[in-house]
Parts: sequence; structure tokens; C-alpha cells
Amino acid sequence: MNSPETVLKNSKRANNSIMTKVLPLAAALLLMLILCSCDDASTLMREDNEYPLVVSTIFPGYDFARSIGDEKAGVIQLLPPGAESHTYEPTPQDMMLVKKCDVFIYAGGESDTWIEEILSEDDAQGRVVVSMTEVSDTLVEEEKEGMHEGGVLSDLFGEDGEEEETDEHTWTSPKNAVRICDAICDALCEVSPENAGYYKDNCGKYTGQLKKLDQRFSDTISKCPRKCIVVADRFPFRYLVNDYGLDYRAAFPGCADNAEVAADSIVTMCDYVKDNNIPVIFTIEFSSGRIADCVAEVTGAKIMTLHSCHNVSSTDEKYIDIMEQNLINLSEALK
Ligand SMILES: [Zn+2]
Repeated sequence: MNSPETVLKNSKRANNSIMTKVLPLAAALLLMLILCSCDDASTLMREDNEYPLVVSTIFPGYDFARSIGDEKAGVIQLLPPGAESHTYEPTPQDMMLVKKCDVFIYAGGESDTWIEEILSEDDAQGRVVVSMTEVSDTLVEEEKEGMHEGGVLSDLFGEDGEEEETDEHTWTSPKNAVRICDAICDALCEVSPENAGYYKDNCGKYTGQLKKLDQRFSDTISKCPRKCIVVADRFPFRYLVNDYGLDYRAAFPGCADNAEVAADSIVTMCDYVKDNNIPVIFTIEFSSGRIADCVAEVTGAKIMTLHSCHNVSSTDEKYIDIMEQNLINLSEALK
């Protein structure tokens, strides 16, 4: 392979004196970054590793797996921190990780078709796959009054509205999070039976915390006078609202990828917020917040974040902490 310097020497742009100084430095930095990240993943991929390699596409699977595997598993999240999960394109290294890992965790919905393709092509021996949708109690996406009609749902449902789409955001329910953790624990025990006691112990402790979280949601929300939230954004919270008996209004169903919302949908949402004196409207993480800004300007409602945990800014964050903050924000919205 040519060194970055050789590549640059052969390049016409190398004649430019400023570029000659800047580009080798940038290329060297880039190469260093690539080598560092490869090294991290390839260390975890080594065949003689004592502990299993777990790969999760998105944050919830990653956070659950590291809580259960802890010191006796190597856990990698494919989606880089801060990246938008629905526009994510796997790199060749990501493909390699999916093929080489011992336990693979993914959401299992419409946005994961590339994964189903890799899994069907590949006959990896001994790899256990956990689809979060498959191990959860599932619900279908639904269209509510005022929702944007040009989104994914209308396309899928066609004219007669017969076909239904399973909502893939199962982890937004702490009850489902417990089911997902149990499935991840089973997978780890299967690939590394000698550490089964360790994984089961960790899983029991962690799901105990999730059950307490679930109880706090139930207790807090049942005491709130309001029972409806307004999400001026995509709506990956079908499972969360279903668990705690909440109604909702949202700009889009699920994670519909059509970001343009019709003016009459915004008008309907503004009317609902004004008619019901809704104090808080929500946006989700990594959102442009444009619809919420518009609704807030018209209605005077406060904008807060409801975090769907698809991804995080830093993997130091924790699912349980994010959900605790969601509960604080929900309490304010349901006053
Ligand atoms: Zn989504």
C-alpha cells in the first residue's frame, strides 16, 4: 500500500504549497484514527480471546450487553456515538464485526434490512443473534389525528390501510428492556457456558434496576393529572406510552423518514396544544427541532427532550440515567 506521502507526491494537488503542508498532516491523522479504531475492534475480534465478542448496532443493546457481560465480554456498538441511526451506512469493518462476533444484537425492524441480508448470506458457526423486536412484546405503528400523512405509514398502508408495520422501538419500554436483557443473557450463556453464573448474576442485578425504574414510571405517571404528551417530532415512544397508559399526539408515526411535515398537521398540533393548555412539547435527541420551534412559537409551550436511546453522544451515558431524565421531563409535561 502507498504511504500517504507517496499518494500525495503523485497527486497534482501536491504542487500547491499550502496543501503540501496541510494534507500530509491531515492524511497522517486520518490514518492514525483508522488504525486506532481498527486496532480496538481487531483486538476484540481475535480468535484466542477468552471472552465472547458482542456487537450491537444501536445503543440499548450495547448498554444492556455491557451491563450483563461486564468484565467477561468485549462489547462494541456499531453506530458511532452521535450518529443518526436511520441514515447509518455500515462500513466494511462493521460487516466484518457482524460476521465475526459471538453475539449479535439488533433492533430487527424495517431500518435493519441490510443486517438481514448479511445474516442470510453468512453461515457463521456458533454466532447467536438477538433481535430486540423478536424477544419483545410488540405493537404496530399507528396513525393518530394530525399526523403527517406523507410519511412511511401512508406509503406502506396504501389506499386501503390494511398492512401494519411492527414498531421496532421496543426498548423504550422498561418492561421490554427486561425481556431484551434476559435474551442477551441467554445468548451469552450459550456462547460461553463456563461464565453463565457470572452473566446470570449481573443480569439479575441489572433487570432488578430496570424493574425499579418501571415502578417509578408507573408510580409517578399515575399521579400526574394529564395523560397525554405532544411530540412535535418523530415518535419512537409507542411502547413507552403504552406501558404507562398515556395518550399522545405526534408529528410522524415511528421514525418516518420524511422530514417535511404538512402545514395543516402543524396547525392541528398547535390547536391541540392551545385547546388543552399543554405546558411542554417534546423533541427527540439529535433532531433539528424545527417543528417544535414552530409549535412553541405559536403556542408558547416549553420545548423539552424525550430521549429515545437510539444513540447517545458518548457511550459513557447509561440507558437507566437517560430514562430517569425522561421521567423528570414527562412529569413536567403531565403537570
Ligand atoms: Zn427509529
